[in-house]
Amino acid sequence: MWWFGTTCAGCGARLQLLSQSGFCDGCSPALECAEAWLGAPTLPVAAGWAYTGPLQAWISRCKQGIFSDPDLLLPPLQRLLKQLTAAGPVALVAIPPERTRLRQRGLHLPDLLVDRLRTREAPRAWLLERVDRAPVRRERVRSPPVLRARALGEKLPVVLIDDVVTTGQTLATACAALQSVGQPVKAAICLADARPQILAQILGQG
Ligand SMILES: [Zn+2]
Repeated sequence: MWWFGTTCAGCGARLQLLSQSGFCDGCSPALECAEAWLGAPTLPVAAGWAYTGPLQAWISRCKQGIFSDPDLLLPPLQRLLKQLTAAGPVALVAIPPERTRLRQRGLHLPDLLVDRLRTREAPRAWLLERVDRAPVRRERVRSPPVLRARALGEKLPVVLIDDVVTTGQTLATACAALQSVGQPVKAAICLADARPQILAQILGQG
């Protein structure tokens, strides 16, 4: 299921052996860093990348079950996390998958991201469980997830981790579920930002 560097993570074109970035020469310059916090004061949300071009292709491949090594995509997320842990340790909590979907795909991108991002200052915590079981139909408007939360004993502030932020509704639902059991939530970090304001900001100049 894992493959490393033989084909471009964005377009699937064949790469030279020992390619450093994992993206081809056409896709690499089209990767757009995002790294802008938006949503304060309720829930500051930032993502590493703009949800566009090769990054969008990479994520959609993951959603089809074709995972490639995400390490090359991590540095902007690690920088964002470092900003948050400067004030003290946090707990990383992945937005959980809908159960039937997880069974189909096997791997869940937010879980994978937490696994790669966690450090001593930012350990992983399993505080959220998704309790809606209805299969997601493409033609139906997605309803927000139903999440059950539990609190951490030591009350480290939570940093939510998700793959794509579009409206922020799922993150807001997760934040509310955790706060309802007394668990503080500090911020959310996503791999890709699909929020119109952010995309306009990043891509508007081009
Ligand atoms: Zn490519």
